[in-house]
Parts: sequence; C-alpha cells; structure tokens
Amino acid sequence: MNRIWIKNPLAILAEENAGGGLVIEQDRIVELVPGGKEPSLPCAQVFDASEHVVTPGLVNCHHHFYQTLTRALPAALNQELFPWLQSLYPVWAGLTPEMISLSSRLALAELMLSGCTTASDHHYLFPRGLEQAIDQQVEAAQQLGIRVVLTRGSMSLGQADGGLPPQTVVQKESDIIADSERLIKTHHQSGTGAMVQIALAPCSPFSVTPDIMRASAELAQLYGVGLHTHLAETLDEETFCEQQFGMHTVDYLESVGWLRPGTWLAHGIHFNDDEIQRLGAASIGVSHCPCSNMVLASGICRTLELEAAGCHVGLGWMVPRPTMAPI
Ligand SMILES: [Zn+2]
Repeated sequence: MNRIWIKNPLAILAEENAGGGLVIEQDRIVELVPGGKEPSLPCAQVFDASEHVVTPGLVNCHHHFYQTLTRALPAALNQELFPWLQSLYPVWAGLTPEMISLSSRLALAELMLSGCTTASDHHYLFPRGLEQAIDQQVEAAQQLGIRVVLTRGSMSLGQADGGLPPQTVVQKESDIIADSERLIKTHHQSGTGAMVQIALAPCSPFSVTPDIMRASAELAQLYGVGLHTHLAETLDEETFCEQQFGMHTVDYLESVGWLRPGTWLAHGIHFNDDEIQRLGAASIGVSHCPCSNMVLASGICRTLELEAAGCHVGLGWMVPRPTMAPI
C-alpha cells in the first residue's frame, strides 16, 4: 500500500466535487475526495495541500531542447525567422553529445518547474557525432520522470538544392527513414501509462523534400505514431512554398499525405479562412507558440478560429527567448 492523499487543497481543477483532494497510488490518481470527506482507503502519506492549488499537468506541444543553450547568441537577436536560423545553423552544427544531454535536462527541468508534466521536443539536428541525440533525450526524461513525446526531426533539403540550411546539417533520406524506424522500434510506447513516445517530424517546407514528407507519413501510418512539422510560421515560408512547390502551405501539406488526424503543426499562423476549415475538418493539431512568434515577429496564430473549426490547439514553449543579457 503506497497511497498518498493530497489533502484539502486551496483549490482544485476537477470535473466533480474534489474539495477534499485526491489520492495517488503508484503513478495513478485513484480517488477524488469530496469536500469534508476522507479517502475510502487508508493512505500511508498525507500531504497538507491547504496552501496549494491542484491542476492537471501542463502539456508542452513544441520545443527544441538544444536551443536552450543558444538563447542569447548576439548574432541571432532581433532577427526574423530565416536570418535567425541562418545565424544559428553553423553553431548548432557544432553541438556535442554532452551539450545534447545538458540541454535536454535543463529544458525538461525548466518545464517541470513551470508545471509541465508532458513535453514534446522537435529535434532535427543530427550532424556527425549526434546520431544518438534522441536516445540521450529518452535517458534525460527517464532520469527526471517526465512524460515525453520525442519527435525524430529531419532536414534533407540543403542550400545546394534550394533549401535554407547548409549542407553540414542535412541528412540523406535513406538515413533519416532508417533511424526513424530504429527509434520507433527502440523507444516508442503505446497505451495507458506510456512515458516515452516517438513521432516523426521533418523540420519545415524549406528544409526537407516532399519525398521525406511522404515517406515519413507512410512510416507513421505503419507504426501508428504521430506526425509533426513547422508550418505557416512566416510569410517568408509562404513565399518559399509558392516558389519551390507552386502551392500554399496547406495544399503542400495535403499533397504529401499529411492532412489527417495524428498530424500536429508548430506555429500555424498564416492560414486563410478556407485553410482553417480544411485543417479543422482533418482534426489537425496546432501548437501555438506565442513567445517565439513575438520574438521573431512572425505573426499571431488564429487560435480561436482554428479551435472552432475542429483543430486541437495546444501551447508550445519554443524559446528563442533572450532571457539573459547578450554576452
Ligand atoms: Zn520550432
């Protein structure tokens, strides 16, 4: 018997009367206690929550843990997305395994301190030496005890082929797919209580090929895992899609087989009314990233319209926040 009674909280967000708090057994809430009552079963520990507010854990839908280390790089400050990325790609190309481990633990600790209990990360950098980056993230999450949805990101469209990132940070498509499958088989858990899940996440229209978008969608379908990417974050991206693919972002998404449940998008700012309806009809998820959007002046996500249309709207931490003075 290892029950803990979180007793008589100052306030609690629950669907029924739970003024007396709740009982936890192992990693599950097993009882909501009505106000003025006691748990129906004996509890080994009682935590006096009379000065605490109990809420469900927050869910973070988009992040780049490694960027925790480069928040205050002077060259990247006060830039819009494309020049911001171009300032940082060469720095990120030099990341080491130690940096991945440290940034993962730092980002997860920050999230936990802010009330987050489930975090998604979008890791798309695999230069030589970082082949185990996602495996390291799994280890960090397990050490800290937080639930994670780790997305195996990718970049396959380098500058030589009309993309934005330098060749040093892009991978061959066959390598991306092989590693995606390895990570799903090694780490992905499903069902109630899953603590580690893997999803597939080609980075953005301007850094991956349509082929890797299609191949990722097929692999995700095969293994029943989610699909994630950045979409419609900036007007520069919209222009890129029109010039490179001859279509708008949502048409592009549909053309590569992604307009379906299980897909969630980071940012999702520049959609017209018709596109919002199409995204909603397909039950697409959108991670609203207000901090990032503000710092990069990307625009404002139409969260209420997206939600009304049927999209699942969540929040992303996504911090290029200059929280420290530049050095
Ligand atoms: Zn992002």
